[in-house]
Amino acid sequence: MARIETPRRVRGTQDIFGDEQRRFAQVLDTFERVRRLYCFGRVDLPVFEATEVFARSIGETTDVVSKEMYTFPDRGGDSLTLRPEFTAGIARAFLTEGWQQYAPLKITTSGAVFRYERPQKGRYRQFHQIDAEVLGAAEPAADVELLVMADQLLRELGIAEGVTLQLNTLGDAETREAWRAGLVAHFEAHRGALSEDSLVRLDKNPMRILDSKDPRDRPIADAAPDIDAFLTAEARAFFDAVTAGLDAAGVAWTRNPRLVRGLDYYRHTAFEFVTDRLGAQGTVLAGGRYDGLVESLGGAPTAGVGWAAGVERLAMLLAEPAAASIDAVVVPMGAAAEARATGLVAELRRAGVAVDMAYKGKMKQRLAKADALGARTAIILGDDELAAGVAQLKTLASGEQRQVAFADLAEALR
Ligand code: ATP
Ligand code: MG
Repeated sequence: MARIETPRRVRGTQDIFGDEQRRFAQVLDTFERVRRLYCFGRVDLPVFEATEVFARSIGETTDVVSKEMYTFPDRGGDSLTLRPEFTAGIARAFLTEGWQQYAPLKITTSGAVFRYERPQKGRYRQFHQIDAEVLGAAEPAADVELLVMADQLLRELGIAEGVTLQLNTLGDAETREAWRAGLVAHFEAHRGALSEDSLVRLDKNPMRILDSKDPRDRPIADAAPDIDAFLTAEARAFFDAVTAGLDAAGVAWTRNPRLVRGLDYYRHTAFEFVTDRLGAQGTVLAGGRYDGLVESLGGAPTAGVGWAAGVERLAMLLAEPAAASIDAVVVPMGAAAEARATGLVAELRRAGVAVDMAYKGKMKQRLAKADALGARTAIILGDDELAAGVAQLKTLASGEQRQVAFADLAEALR
């Protein structure tokens, strides 16, 4: 017979299982709990959108749109794109679903996102994000609330130690224009020494040069003028209100005047929570204010601010997750006991007991299986027990054994 080749897992994708699955669940459960504490709603969005949703809102000059999107024509000929992030889809839904009526809208989502990148540790082509946004709030209080929520999430995950909040302002429109002109003048003077990528950025999106990881660009980027000299009074007051709010809430931050976000629509607050525990993939959570994004999709001017975090990167930072555990394993010995065990397991599960059955091998192997499943108790069932309507309950940690009537089992195990 011809040998059939097993298909490969696609590069940059993951099968999240076992220990990894527990870490994922811990991140998502904690996010769900924290978003309730902060009174944020939850939405589930389509995995794909019309390509223009991302192209127009994220911006043609960003790496995400120019190099990383999974874009394809569907069978009807429409150009679709697998979501590379959540903000654009939320802004689209805000407009198409008439969510203006709920403004200010505090909303979260989570799930898979897709980017065509070079896979490495902490960098995948299908990865997962948790995301929080506030739409229709122009006040710095919204920025503060989102940052305090991010900080609490990291604390509850037990990873706040070693993760730093870096904060910057990109100013208002007037500030940004003036700063942009200052940056262009500076970079033009060093044109000859910039990387090829940064020469393209210089024409299209000069702020991105500040963000460059190319060693040729670093000294030039580091010597570029800070935004501070260009800040309008309003922009400075906004930034001061954000930092005052963080201080009041007891959230530590550091200023990073080199921090920029790719989007053309970013205004005022920009931030990243970074760690040195993940090598080059050190940004775990990032976001900022994007007043102007909803307008880019044809909506009325709408303030917006939000963040996204990589679930994989948060999961990697977690301490060893708690081992899986269940309440009990039923160990039937003999055909009659096995037949009775099927009904018993169903009854116990209906009563809220997490119980599995070990039906392979000798008693010793069955008890080993109970151990491997992390069961607290083995419910041993043989012919004698069956006749008496009882089971032997063996506490696996101590080896202690006692007899319990079938009718009292659920109570004894809960
Ligand atoms: P990076 O600089 O690492 O490429 P980014 O600026 O592209 O990050 P964002 O678009 O801000 O990232 O996405 C928010 C978060 O999503 C990041 O802080 C990171 O935790 C996570 N993330 C981004 N790209 C990937 C990826 N390819 N694989 C896994 N996680 C990712
Ligand atoms: Mg990236």
